[in-house]
Amino acid sequence: MSDPWLHRFKTKIIIGLVVMLALFMALTMVGIMKITRNALLADSAESTGQLGKAISSGLRCSMLNRSPERIQETLDNIGQSGQVAKIFILNRQGRVGFSSDRNEIGKKYERTADVSCRVCHLTADTVPERHTILVHGAGGDVYRNVSVIYNEQPCFGCHPREEKINGKLIIDHPLTGTYGLIQKIGISMAAGGIACLLLLIPFMSRMINRYIDQIILKNTEINLVYSIMDSISKTIDMEELKNIVLDIVCDALMAEEVDLVLPKGQNGYRVVTRSATGEKYQRKKLTDNDPLGPVVERWCAGEVTLYEYSPDRTEVYLPIRKGDSRLALIAVRCKSHPLPESKLQLIEAICNHIAIAFENARLYSIAITDELTSLYTVRHFRISIDKQMMMFDTYGEKFALLMIDIDNFKKVNDTYGHPTGDAVLKKVAHCIAESVRVDDLAFRYGGEEFAVILPATALPGGLSVAERIRAQIEVAEIMDNGQRIAATVSVGLAVCPDNATTVKEIIVQADKSLYAAKHGGKNCVKASQTVARE
Ligand code: GH3
Ligand code: MG
Ligand code: MG
Repeated sequence: MSDPWLHRFKTKIIIGLVVMLALFMALTMVGIMKITRNALLADSAESTGQLGKAISSGLRCSMLNRSPERIQETLDNIGQSGQVAKIFILNRQGRVGFSSDRNEIGKKYERTADVSCRVCHLTADTVPERHTILVHGAGGDVYRNVSVIYNEQPCFGCHPREEKINGKLIIDHPLTGTYGLIQKIGISMAAGGIACLLLLIPFMSRMINRYIDQIILKNTEINLVYSIMDSISKTIDMEELKNIVLDIVCDALMAEEVDLVLPKGQNGYRVVTRSATGEKYQRKKLTDNDPLGPVVERWCAGEVTLYEYSPDRTEVYLPIRKGDSRLALIAVRCKSHPLPESKLQLIEAICNHIAIAFENARLYSIAITDELTSLYTVRHFRISIDKQMMMFDTYGEKFALLMIDIDNFKKVNDTYGHPTGDAVLKKVAHCIAESVRVDDLAFRYGGEEFAVILPATALPGGLSVAERIRAQIEVAEIMDNGQRIAATVSVGLAVCPDNATTVKEIIVQADKSLYAAKHGGKNCVKASQTVARE
């Protein structure tokens, strides 16, 4: 979490989520509060109606007994009980006959003028419809219940009912308690919501941190796979590919040492190794007690088909295959730490790509290798010398070119036959390959002609390699039916930029030197004397 951008990104996500959650909670609470408020008010209205019904039936008895004192006393008692804000009876003329507030007695209520009356009596002619209404009074909101008090029991429809009306009982039920309750519920819900939010924030931030870290890890892995695939697909040259594969496996698994085992011939193998410290790429000869030995033996026998690792997971062996053919075996050693499963899966995932790269490199290597001599082909010579000249043009790097021709080869063919001639060609090619350095490139240029490109080499270096080749072939043991066949070569040498600065010119100069060697008695080396044109 050291990256400030990541820190800001995480903070923004957490703030965004908290805001969204708070909004959602607020909206939910508002909804719940609305439902609760409506339910509580409906309940209040209902209980006000019930109260009105109960009191009016009680009062009717007092009215039937014509006992006004009793009626006033009842209203006084109800008023003092605190259950109602006000209770009063209007007579047919709209005057207050009885009231819990004695000061109100005699007050006239105009049904078209009084605020509370107008709620029910919309016009002078309308008959009240509702019995319980909400009235916003000066002393606060109340539910007003209006009950009609009949003089006597309704008879059998002989008289209109209104004529029997003795008055109206009006009860004002205060809503202060209900409002208080609603407020308390609101406060508790808001406090609960805020507490939940405060508890959720650390939890959410931990969760988000974890998810983002996982995303970053996955992203790093994807980038790694991408860069690995990118680098291994950049080359089809086997030598370059070997180094790239050693590098990526070593870096991706943070290995201390990586061995790359490649097949050689029918059942043989060769091992290239790279360690995290020390010299990078090295050929390796397996000793008797090398732990890799038994694994390589099984691999050669075709028994290692899936990746394997040691019980402590400090060593892992990854076979690289294409169908049934064994392309390579990668052995990874991390003595200081066991290899994590996720990294192994990562490498396993790219093994297929490594296999494709090795297969391409193998096919390319077949395409540029001469079957008889195992040296590079003349087609590859043209590509390589163009590259070498480009290196000179760009970096001014010198190089030398050797042209080699076997002396009196026709005679060898004529004396021993073509198959023996082929064997001589093979042996000469082997001598050339053995005499050159790791970076030098040897080609079969024509029938019994060879070419060698010596990068970063001037005249003295070129002469020394040429002489080494010549001498090695001169003493080579080439046997035919128990008889030694003597073979010698003539070598022509040209150096860029001393003798030529173009591809065509350096080939001409090396060829001319070869002819000079032939004319100079064969079995010798001649260097070009031509000075390159500017
Ligand atoms: P010089 O010393 O002047 O080079 O004499 P030379 O006899 O070697 O003459 P030249 O270089 O012209 O010889 C070419 C001979 O090489 C002709 C051909 O029969 C033989 N040759 C070319 N390719 C092959 C091959 O693949 N196998 C065999 N056995 N012989 C080949
Ligand atoms: Mg020739
Ligand atoms: Mg020849």
